[in-house]
Amino acid sequence: MSILDIRVLGDPVLRQVTTPVAEVTDEIRRLVADMFETMHHARGIGLAAPQVGRTERLAVIEIDGEPLVVINPEIVERSSAKDKAEEGCLSIPDIYADVERPKDVVVRAMDLDGSEYEIEATELLARCLQHEIDHLDGRLFLDYLSVLKRTAALTKWKLQQDKYPGFIRRTALETPEERKRHEHPDEEL
Ligand code: ZN
Repeated sequence: MSILDIRVLGDPVLRQVTTPVAEVTDEIRRLVADMFETMHHARGIGLAAPQVGRTERLAVIEIDGEPLVVINPEIVERSSAKDKAEEGCLSIPDIYADVERPKDVVVRAMDLDGSEYEIEATELLARCLQHEIDHLDGRLFLDYLSVLKRTAALTKWKLQQDKYPGFIRRTALETPEERKRHEHPDEEL
C-alpha cells in the first residue's frame, strides 16, 4: 500500500465528472487500499478518487472505525428535512464552512466484491456520503456557499495555496505537526 498525493483546489481533476467502474479488478482493490491509507494518514473521514487524481467513480469513508467503500454510488432518496453543519475537505485544507444538506439519504452502491447494496444513512454518515458523491460529480462544498462566504473562503485559500505547487498536497511528507494543524473539531472529507 502507499500514501498518495492529494489534489487540492485548482486541480481540474476535482471538477471532472468520474467514470463508473465496470468491474472490480485488482487495480481497483489496490486503489481503494491506497485511498484508505492516504485518508488515515491525512486524518480524514472520507476520500473520493478525484482527490487522488483518479477518475473512477468510487470513494472511501471511515467513521467511528467503520470502513465503507462506495463504488458507483448514487443517491436514491433524500429526506426533505435539512441539516446544517460545518464541513472541511482534504482537498481544501484549513477552510471550513457551514453547509446545508438533506439530513438523511439512501445510497445505492457496489462493494469490493462487486455486489450492489443500499445503505440508509443519517447524520455524519449522510453528510459524508453526500460530500463524497459530490466529488464524484465534480462538485465541492464551496459551491453551496453564498457568494459572500465563498469569496471569503477563496480569499483565505489564496493566501495559502502556494504551499501546494502544482495543486498537489504531498500527504506522505507532511510532518505530524503539519497534520495536527489540519485537525479540527469537524473532520475533513
Ligand atoms: Zn472533500
